[in-house]
Amino acid sequence: MSQVGTEAQPLRVAVVGAGPSGFYATEALLKSDVPVCVDLIERLPSPYGLVRSGVAPDHPKLKQAIEVYKKVAEREGFRLLGNVTVGEDVTPQELSECYHAVIYACGAETDRRLGIDGEDLPGSHTATEFVGWYNGHPDYRDREFDFSHETAVIIGQGNVAADVARILSKSVDELKHTDIAQHALDALAESRIRTIAVVGRRGPVQAKFTGKELREFLELENCQTLIDPAELELNEASAAELEDQKLGAVPRKNYESFQQMTPKEGKSRTCRMMFCRSPVEILGDARIECVVLERNELSGEPFSQRASGTGETEELECGLLFRSIGYRGVSIEGVPFYDSWGVIPNQAGRILEEQDGAVVPGLYTTGWIKRGPSGIIGTNRACAVETVGSLLEDLNSLPEDRGGTEALLALLQGRGTRVVEFSEWQKIDAEEVRLGEPKGKPREKFTRREEMLAVLES
Ligand code: NAP
Repeated sequence: MSQVGTEAQPLRVAVVGAGPSGFYATEALLKSDVPVCVDLIERLPSPYGLVRSGVAPDHPKLKQAIEVYKKVAEREGFRLLGNVTVGEDVTPQELSECYHAVIYACGAETDRRLGIDGEDLPGSHTATEFVGWYNGHPDYRDREFDFSHETAVIIGQGNVAADVARILSKSVDELKHTDIAQHALDALAESRIRTIAVVGRRGPVQAKFTGKELREFLELENCQTLIDPAELELNEASAAELEDQKLGAVPRKNYESFQQMTPKEGKSRTCRMMFCRSPVEILGDARIECVVLERNELSGEPFSQRASGTGETEELECGLLFRSIGYRGVSIEGVPFYDSWGVIPNQAGRILEEQDGAVVPGLYTTGWIKRGPSGIIGTNRACAVETVGSLLEDLNSLPEDRGGTEALLALLQGRGTRVVEFSEWQKIDAEEVRLGEPKGKPREKFTRREEMLAVLES
């Protein structure tokens, strides 16, 4: 048997998950000097992961990352195997038997929980559900949100919370020429929400919004963003954080944006930034009626201040609540998983049997499922380069004699799985764009797998 990673026996890699981290891992492999074939396996018929179904519809610039992924797909050695679910259509064990190496790049698909009473009452949702719903993700297509009450509450002050708040704040006119799913646009058109409270457990200096995302709240057409000035008073450690450049200029710039959040005339909606409060209970009979917030105080050294409850509580009436306190990875049976952190245990991308355990030969990971849900889209590129570096260092010790694509396709064919290749995705893509044209939208997304597959049969 010739050496793996030569012209005679190209390295055969399966990358699981066609989101940003999967594409960046594929790119790093295909740009390496090693002869390699990469099969990018995706459970939906559509690629691009959170760039398609996570990035907010009113942030089209962030979606330009897709142009980079299209270039990756043009490279020799690339193949998309869409509509294939690892763990259902094929087991991780079978996948490992087909490829010299498998890279898990399946992201963080669920949300962290608050762990409070009432969290699962109707009307209390995760940000993931809402984001997936307005972005037309098939898994969330049929979720229902009740926009008939005046107040919505969002728990968390990161960029996902900002996206959710902005979508609730905007009018249909502001959204109708984006790629927002039509069912979401129709439901939001009926929205009676007038106040959106965005609640952080720590203070304005610790909020996780990035500068540009926060500044957008100053420019909303129909919504003013308000803060009680008393909430901008800082303790000594927060004032020190503001002066320090450890985190760059973001905390200072954010603080300046918060200072500008003052009443504006002629706005029909209000977004309210609230700090140093944690939800302790969600109340309601048949559905959510109000959230009980406890006032927090901050303590500790600058940059490691923690919030602890003061015992003082207040009730905030609301008809809708979104938990936006960070995503969490989901385990795949047969792939090691470190439940406490919601990630695959790994060392520089090499999957470990358990946290601090031995390396599993031929298994790698990258992206949010490797390091947790942090960073912007581009952060995943460096992360993938590290993982692929580890894989290529291991070239001489990878398992040999693997059938690659043909072996996997034979297995899937036997199971009746309808694999969607990249050229087929391009047909679906073109059809979405065509359907968007008369509405002045960049595309009208198909929101059901069957609709996408039907395009291929027609
Ligand atoms: P995030 O940035 O980590 O923010 C999570 C928020 O939840 C923080 O305010 C955090 O407060 C709070 N939180 C955590 N646990 C809590 C609890 N038990 N109770 C109350 N609050 C709690 O997460 P994210 O917003 O989900 O974003 C994930 C990543 O995607 C981030 O890196 C983000 O920048 C990125 N993203 C970027 C964009 C963009 O570039 N436009 C858009 C969306 C997402 P503490 O600080 O106190 O922990």
